[in-house]
Amino acid sequence: MAFFIAEPCTDIKDMSCVEECPVDCIYEGDRKLYINPVECIDCGACEPVCPVEAITTDRGATPEMASHKPDNARFFYERLPGRDEPLGNPGGAERIGPIGVDTPVISALPRVASTATQGTQVTTEQETR
Ligand code: SF4
Ligand code: SF4
Repeated sequence: MAFFIAEPCTDIKDMSCVEECPVDCIYEGDRKLYINPVECIDCGACEPVCPVEAITTDRGATPEMASHKPDNARFFYERLPGRDEPLGNPGGAERIGPIGVDTPVISALPRVASTATQGTQVTTEQETR
């Protein structure tokens, strides 16, 4: 029963789940987080703390959320844009830090307009004028 993170995390990334994970297997992409399916010990500690209910399992997932299970795996086992080789199983997210890139599925999503990100985007637009 592997846990995985679905689309609602995108552009939210409040990192609550990372604090709870006893094996540090939740990795940070640019716009979303991803659970390493091999390193996860299925303890379930991360699931209740997610404010947007993005963390789920096969059993709890809606069909739309379920489509993100293979995408979580893709983050680790396929070569991500701009990287020379797949991440694999690094053995701890803190050690390698933010990856700075997402899977093509997540990168293609329109930006979510949360209050915080709206403020950032406005600032960025103003600065570039
Ligand atoms: S289920 Fe447990 S081990 Fe797996 S990502 Fe969540 S907190 Fe980490
Ligand atoms: S707690 Fe939920 S929204 Fe926050 S980073 Fe984890 S999966 Fe994403």
